[in-house]
Amino acid sequence: MAPGTVKKAIATVLSSSRDVCRKCGRKLVFENKAIPVVIYSNHRGTYLRSRLTKLCRKCKIYAHHRYWSVDGKRHFYRDSVLSEFLLSSEDTAFQMDVLAECNNLLVIGTVPFSTYAASYNRGFQYCKMATTNDIDP
Ligand SMILES: [Zn+2]
Repeated sequence: MAPGTVKKAIATVLSSSRDVCRKCGRKLVFENKAIPVVIYSNHRGTYLRSRLTKLCRKCKIYAHHRYWSVDGKRHFYRDSVLSEFLLSSEDTAFQMDVLAECNNLLVIGTVPFSTYAASYNRGFQYCKMATTNDIDP
């Protein structure tokens, strides 16, 4: 990169690529404003992005990034694992490299998820700061 060049961050917004309802074919509308999402990445640690939800007002079907929901049930697309991100909760998502590494360690190394999470946190220095309460008298 040439000196003085500003590298622009590409903002990731997790949302459905669908524009029409899967049941009735009506145009989907955005349900709300962008909601912050914490993304877990193997290369960057955690960072903030956002998600958007689309809705069919008639069918009450919600379209999310790589899945849709109706009556509180989630239905993932068959190719969801091929996506770069997996929206795992209302406010968290995993970059798939995290899940791939976690999967390898769980299967090959029989490493518990808690150990993997502790290693992840240590690697990115997401450690709890020691307080005076943590120090033995
Ligand atoms: Zn519909």
